[in-house]
Amino acid sequence: MCCRDSLDLLGRAVKVTARATCRVTLARPVLQSFAYIIPGELTHSICPGVRVRIPFGRRHEIGLVESVDARPESVEEPGKKGHLREVLEVLDAEPLLDDALLRLCRWTADYYVAPIGLVHRAALPPGLLSSRIRTGAAQKTRQVVRLTTELPTLLARDRAFGKAHRQREAFEVIEELGGSAALSHLDTGLGFNRSVIRGLRDRGLAEIVEQTVERDPFEVEDPVEAPPRSLTQDQRVVLDGLIGQLTTENPGIALLRGITGAGKTVIYLRLIKAAIDAGRSALILVPEIGLTPQTVARFRAVFGDGIAVLHSGLSIGERHDAWRALREGRKRVAIGTRSAVFAPLTDLGVIVIDEEHDGSYKQSETPRYHARALAAMRARTEGALLVLGSATPSLESWHNALEGRYQLYELENRATRHQLPAVRLVDRRIRKAENVGSVLSEELQAAIKTRLNENHQTLLLLNRRGYATVQQCTACGWVAMCPACNVSLTWHRRRARLVCHHCRWDEGVPDRCPECAEEKLTFGGIGTEQVERVLSETYPTATIARMDVDTTGGKWAHGRILRRVLNREVDILLGTQMIAKGLDLPGVTLVGVIDADVGLNLPDFRAAERTFQLLSQVAGRAGRGDDAGEVLIQTLRPEHPALLHTLTHDYVSFATAEIADRLAPGYPPHRRIANLVVSGRDETSVADAAEELAEWLESTIDTGKLSVCVVGPAPCPIDRLRGRWRWHMLLKADTASNLGPLLRYAARHSPVGGSCRLEIDRDPESML
Ligand code: ADP
Ligand code: ZN
Ligand code: ZN
Repeated sequence: MCCRDSLDLLGRAVKVTARATCRVTLARPVLQSFAYIIPGELTHSICPGVRVRIPFGRRHEIGLVESVDARPESVEEPGKKGHLREVLEVLDAEPLLDDALLRLCRWTADYYVAPIGLVHRAALPPGLLSSRIRTGAAQKTRQVVRLTTELPTLLARDRAFGKAHRQREAFEVIEELGGSAALSHLDTGLGFNRSVIRGLRDRGLAEIVEQTVERDPFEVEDPVEAPPRSLTQDQRVVLDGLIGQLTTENPGIALLRGITGAGKTVIYLRLIKAAIDAGRSALILVPEIGLTPQTVARFRAVFGDGIAVLHSGLSIGERHDAWRALREGRKRVAIGTRSAVFAPLTDLGVIVIDEEHDGSYKQSETPRYHARALAAMRARTEGALLVLGSATPSLESWHNALEGRYQLYELENRATRHQLPAVRLVDRRIRKAENVGSVLSEELQAAIKTRLNENHQTLLLLNRRGYATVQQCTACGWVAMCPACNVSLTWHRRRARLVCHHCRWDEGVPDRCPECAEEKLTFGGIGTEQVERVLSETYPTATIARMDVDTTGGKWAHGRILRRVLNREVDILLGTQMIAKGLDLPGVTLVGVIDADVGLNLPDFRAAERTFQLLSQVAGRAGRGDDAGEVLIQTLRPEHPALLHTLTHDYVSFATAEIADRLAPGYPPHRRIANLVVSGRDETSVADAAEELAEWLESTIDTGKLSVCVVGPAPCPIDRLRGRWRWHMLLKADTASNLGPLLRYAARHSPVGGSCRLEIDRDPESML
């Protein structure tokens, strides 16, 4: 405690008993931070950005100092500061977040109406803000189940397993995963309990071994092709423009639209090199590291040890190492997914967001931030250039470029002079009788056959996993539903389970209808597992690989499958949207889309945009080698603009039409929106609370005279999720600055309470 003279508002000297205070954030779902007194002996060790141990309720917690109030305040101030408690300990010698990052976190918390402590947690490597302080080495090994025997014939299988069906399924699943799988994936991920796995071991079919988790899987990456020595004329123009922007005082934001294969990566590499040579640092964001190993490898090839790869495949200890190397300036380039936008780089020169339209840049849980928005904010406050790259930019970014807020660069040709593939639609409607019913139309079957004969590879997309998505009784109409969510269960045939794709609930497959005991159940909604089966029956000699969440449980399973495809060990690669992203597979000359309508029919205003982006992206996988590519898209909606514009690879026309279509309903990019979701366990209370909230918003908006309107409330498209009923309403505003204050006011003062919860999703990417 210290006593000192101070001046009051009129400048008269007053004697106060004063102590400095600080504001501390906790990784909890509360909006505010908490004031604590800084005891005299800690005065010199506390600064914004360090962690502290504090008393909270009856416990001790770890928090982060957001600000220090150097002005001593009277601790005797009645009612307010009188009960403040003291910081117990300072845990860091240096701040974990510097001023720029603290400001970015504060902006994020305010803009997205998110708890500041949860933003701080998102900005730091995992584990630093848990109430337990992590010490020592993080776990670096894991248990892996490895098959030790092959059972090549059906007879051998029947003999080996007898009635042990679950063991047989487990065996076949591990086989499918390439012969080994992490134990944790098999039990928590796939639902095989440990006794099943032990059974396999006891039969001498598998062993359980301790495996060291690779330090950094990218270190053992295959050699990548050297970057091209010279740029094309088009690339040169773009690079010169970007470097020109980089060297100005306020570089702003650039949108680079370049068709797939246009050679955007080479431009990023050179641009970043220029920034590094000028003594600055660089940040690259990619949608999903596991899915973009080739892109990451190309950056590694150029920047070698100077680049830190931030990804969830690393152990906690390794993530700390990478993070520390950046903070201390030992590495100057960071590449990572969404959360890498918080990478502790100083003197930032350039941020690149590759595939900027990708939905994974928006976090789907609190804090629901969009990495693109944060990157824009970060670039502006730190004087860096932000480059957004895509073949199919988000309509928001495209609109910003057209309106002159972003500098637009375009690449209309492939760098290698390979042509874009020819795209054809296969009309699956009933009047085209020859195509009805089967998974593969005659056209697609013939095209695959040709590729097999010519030793070319085929890529098949179906954005729906499992075997069948709807199991229904033919007598009474009963449908297998998730007990916690209002969605049908997907049949995973290999695992012999019905699974909820939203909450991961799973149960056995009934052999008769639980309502009326009818034995005939139908299975609708084809998934990848079923396509795989059809393919193996249609092309018995072809090697088929399937890539979806079910086969890529191990972090690097994806890379293994990819390597097999690159080595030409695979004839047909089948998968969900995973196979559409950033892959460069020169042997692929045919891309088939099994059902283009999967995403088109979702109740989301971005359904058309997403479908166009996915189809363009997967089409771009064909014909990247020397042989021309062909794309076949099966659909029941051949007249839909998202499909028609895919045929002509015409992004600009698609974007123009789609942006015009969104004017009347008032969707982005014309207006700014927020999705307000009210949820709770009781259906009626949720509906009532949503109605009340909507009325409350209407009245609040009136007095505020803001140009904001409320649409709804209505039940969410998925009106029950994980046991909670859900209603929502949309707020639409002309400008972001009209929306922010209202949302922050609503978060603190809305009438939603009691058994119901309000979630605010600003600039939502998913409306389900
Ligand atoms: P994008 O990221 O735009 O899809 P990439 O950067 O992956 O395109 O480039 C596609 C292919 O073209 C790569 O194989 C790359 O090596 C090649 N390429 C890019 N630029 C050139 C160039 N100037 N000369 C020759 N090949 C190039
Ligand atoms: Zn029935
Ligand atoms: Zn569920």
